[in-house]
Amino acid sequence: LIPTTVSSHPSRAFHTFEFFPPRTPQGLLNLLDRIHRLISAPLCPPVGINVTWGAGGSTMVKSLELAEEIVKLVKEDGREGRVEVVLHLTCTNMRRGLLDQALKKCRQLGIQNILALRGDPPRKEEYRPAPGPNTTSSFSTSTGNSNQPPAPSKTLDDLDPADMLNEQNDQEDEDEDEFTYAEDLVRYIRNQEGGEWFCIGVAGYPTPHLDSPTPESDIHFLAQKINAGADFIITQLFYDVDGFVEWVGRVRGAGVDVPIIPGLMPIQNYASFRRLINLCKCPVPKQIIDDLDPIKSDDAAVKRYGITLATKMIQRLLDADLPNVRGVHFCTLNLEKSVRTIMENLGWVQQQHPQHSAGSMEGEVGHTG
Ligand code: FAD
Repeated sequence: LIPTTVSSHPSRAFHTFEFFPPRTPQGLLNLLDRIHRLISAPLCPPVGINVTWGAGGSTMVKSLELAEEIVKLVKEDGREGRVEVVLHLTCTNMRRGLLDQALKKCRQLGIQNILALRGDPPRKEEYRPAPGPNTTSSFSTSTGNSNQPPAPSKTLDDLDPADMLNEQNDQEDEDEDEFTYAEDLVRYIRNQEGGEWFCIGVAGYPTPHLDSPTPESDIHFLAQKINAGADFIITQLFYDVDGFVEWVGRVRGAGVDVPIIPGLMPIQNYASFRRLINLCKCPVPKQIIDDLDPIKSDDAAVKRYGITLATKMIQRLLDADLPNVRGVHFCTLNLEKSVRTIMENLGWVQQQHPQHSAGSMEGEVGHTG
């Protein structure tokens, strides 16, 4: 379980990785190769690997497929019990039947850790395009507002998400009041028979969630999610370490004492960074904007800057020694190079042999999603 692994971890310096399910079988194979390299890193494997979930269950089959493959990888690598799989689950616009099936599958696979999320209500016209092999179905924590079209292209065991989504369409009015907030999902999982078997994480927002009228109300409802039965918090990405430290103080002041894992997304390129911070309304220290300005059209330089920045942020977070704030959650965007180099910088993994160095890996790693 994430909190146990986290609390018993010999140092604060550990990490979890977040991946989204790739669209194609080849993308899945590429991603599994990357994950294999990352979990077999000799000095410091991750304690958790998160698999995202498309809003409304749009990536249900592919998310469960990826989670299953990671479970196998972890077993094959002899790291069972030391590397946890964490499945994200959203609850709005999800029929209870789909949630039940996902939870059942988790039990079958031995996946105990669930990140319970509200998800974002889709705009109807974007939500249900005709499912087909070319529709995209990825999600990244970075957006916090991603409305992804469903792209179910195959079935997993008895699940047929295309049928289920159609069925869901018909029944959504009936179910629509059941889950309004993540708290409802936390309570739903906990109240199931054997619900205590699951270890439940929830999202926290160092910059208040866009729907929150005040920062205080956001922390109040975070505390309610914990009171409903959640065990740990993974935060939305941020770039302002001072702001994060201050937020943690307020969360602890509200009586929330569960582990908090800070979410970090290394900057990969300038345009996507700007889009991201606009979308999340995430405050960025002026120094970072000033540093990026002269290099913004040089992608390689921006990526190098992102690596250096993330390395320094992690060092500052570790030095801050905040109560029960341990490790770091990498939003990888399914990319390997930046996170590996950051971990090398921190001494968490050995430097790669020159022919497998970050530079030569570049070709192997592009987006899979
Ligand atoms: P909630 O906790 O329900 O909060 C949403 C808003 O409602 C907040 O303003 C909150 O203060 C308020 N609120 C909460 N409870 C109550 C209440 N009882 N009464 C009144 N107001 C309330 N999205 C995906 O689709 N797939 C993913 O895989 C995914 N992974 C994520 C991972 C992380 C680490 C993070 C931070 C976000 C992720 N998201 C994901 C995005 C998330 O779904 C969105 O940010 C969504 O808008 C809010 O989800 P939540 O669980 O934080 O919602």
